Amino acid sequence: MSRKPLIAANWKMYKTPAQAQEFVKAFLPLVANHDRDEIVLCPSDTSLSVVIAATAGSNVAVGAQNMYFVDEGAFTGETSPVMLKAINTTHVLIGHSERRQYFCESDETVNRKLHAALRHGLKPIVCVGEMLEEREAGMTEEVLLRQIGNALEGVTAEQAEPIVIAYEPVWAIGTGKTATPDIASEAHAIVRSEIAKVLGRKSAEEMRILYGGSVKPENCPALMNEPEIDGALVGGASLDPQSFAKIVKY
Ligand code: PEP
Repeated sequence: MSRKPLIAANWKMYKTPAQAQEFVKAFLPLVANHDRDEIVLCPSDTSLSVVIAATAGSNVAVGAQNMYFVDEGAFTGETSPVMLKAINTTHVLIGHSERRQYFCESDETVNRKLHAALRHGLKPIVCVGEMLEEREAGMTEEVLLRQIGNALEGVTAEQAEPIVIAYEPVWAIGTGKTATPDIASEAHAIVRSEIAKVLGRKSAEEMRILYGGSVKPENCPALMNEPEIDGALVGGASLDPQSFAKIVKY
């Protein structure tokens, strides 16, 4: 079965609204009519509206990097799914390793955020991945099974269609160390087998699993050549329009 690849940019805490707008202006002509892959830009919250306006009517969608799981309330500093939907955000990253590492995001909050995204019609990109110590201790499979099992808890096969998973080994994020296509494929197969266990074979076959971790224009083609890899979540190399366009057109 064929899964349309998705290439997403995670700009992290980079770019002012003016810089984000400048990126879009340079980027859109580079990917005009590119239809083979779904393209998503995830700017910081302060640039969401600007990027949504600048990409309107194009082949580029816009996602948030995070959100809270409650619709509204006394949660200082948080952004709700209702707020994201109100400005036409279509996607949302959930459980990025930097959220887990620096902001105490747990498997439980990831699960609650996933349910909130589905409830509000946002397409969740759920990040999972082992840390270096876990890989070295032979715990990669255990970590991935735990993260996927907990993230998908209470989700039904009927709800699962919009969900995208991003396998991002923490040791490869922002380090310049990419997982080899073999290592990434092996991890993706583990993730897919757990999805099958929780949601059934059909959902597992349909769900896109992206690879993330130091993806660059140079290593993207070999990664995307792997049948198990359905796209990429790109940090550093997505900040420059030329570089990200090269990745999109691998
Ligand atoms: C990321 O932020 O999700 C990421 C994969 O970063 P980088 O591409 O810089 O490793």
